[in-house]
Amino acid sequence: MYMGTIITVKAYGKNADKAADKVFKRISELEEILTVNDTGSEIDDLNDMAGIVEVKLSSDSLYVLNKAKEYAELSEGAFDVTIGPLVKAWNIGTDNPRVPLKDEIDELLKLVDFRDLKIDNANHTAYLARRGQMVDLGGIAKGYAGDEAIKVLKENGIESALVNLGGNVVVLGSKPDGNLWTVGIQNPREAAGKYLGTISVRDKAVVSSGDYERYFMKDGVRYHHILDPRTGYPADSGLISTTIIADSAIDADALSTSVFVLGLENGMKLVESLDGVEAVFVTEDKKVYVTEGLKDIFIFYQEDSKDFTYVEER
Ligand code: FAD
Ligand code: MG
Repeated sequence: MYMGTIITVKAYGKNADKAADKVFKRISELEEILTVNDTGSEIDDLNDMAGIVEVKLSSDSLYVLNKAKEYAELSEGAFDVTIGPLVKAWNIGTDNPRVPLKDEIDELLKLVDFRDLKIDNANHTAYLARRGQMVDLGGIAKGYAGDEAIKVLKENGIESALVNLGGNVVVLGSKPDGNLWTVGIQNPREAAGKYLGTISVRDKAVVSSGDYERYFMKDGVRYHHILDPRTGYPADSGLISTTIIADSAIDADALSTSVFVLGLENGMKLVESLDGVEAVFVTEDKKVYVTEGLKDIFIFYQEDSKDFTYVEER
């Protein structure tokens, strides 16, 4: 278990086992730097020093923070890694989740603003402008770990592999038999491993976000872990799952969370404006939408997903 999730590495060819070991080493190293679930990581230092002083960071942290800011701007704040104080208050995905009082949420919301994350790339430092502010990389760091995993595999001569970091799938090359890798899109209302459909790809990241893995129910309401930085509550955009297909997993990860918050219309608009990025959107009224570029690649499993409708024309 790394980064709070189960990670699998399927690598093929000579040295595959050794290469896979190196992947786990690299992921464990990244977890130590980037986690906020343990004290003493670089990101934990950044949070501890909020409003006090800038902290020295490794190029890994800097890279992820720069990407996080890029997607905060691109999504106009729907994606915001300074969401940390609210993530802590809700505590979703732990043994003690809770629904904070509205006043508490409104108070903490004042701390959420990616513009207060100041990055000094020349000096390898970053700084959070105000006390109490907190960065949380839960929406982007697994993506970076996926990209780094592929890098390690390539450096070790591997040409065919699939890495799965709890719903963040990255494939290298094609399958050992030369066919494309087939990646399932989880049915958000069925058990894990039941798919709405599949897509077949090579050299791509396929990353999903949803309301079905980390959530809790209270008084009949589903409270999930993707928070809307405008309200402080779980995003209520009409979507229950989003999947992004892109060349790099860090981009796919940041975007899957971004579009989940943005909703179908704005999320679709954002993805269609980006080169080489495709998406699958699932709405709470159980409709499945895909971007233009996926129409020939996405295979919908109607038999297994009877209450879902694939909407091919919008
Ligand atoms: P995504 O949709 O990619 O991201 C959702 C997550 O992003 C939320 O859980 C929250 O952390 C954050 N977020 C919420 N709203 C927003 C927003 N609007 N903008 C930006 N970010 C947002 N889990 C454990 O249970 N135990 C651990 O010890 C643990 N350690 C971890 C260490 C690291 C380095 C990382 C990256 C994750 C770790 N996790 C751990 C998991 C983490 O808490 C998240 O649950 C997980 O990363 C969510 O990934 P996802 O792909 O399901 O969702
Ligand atoms: Mg994400």
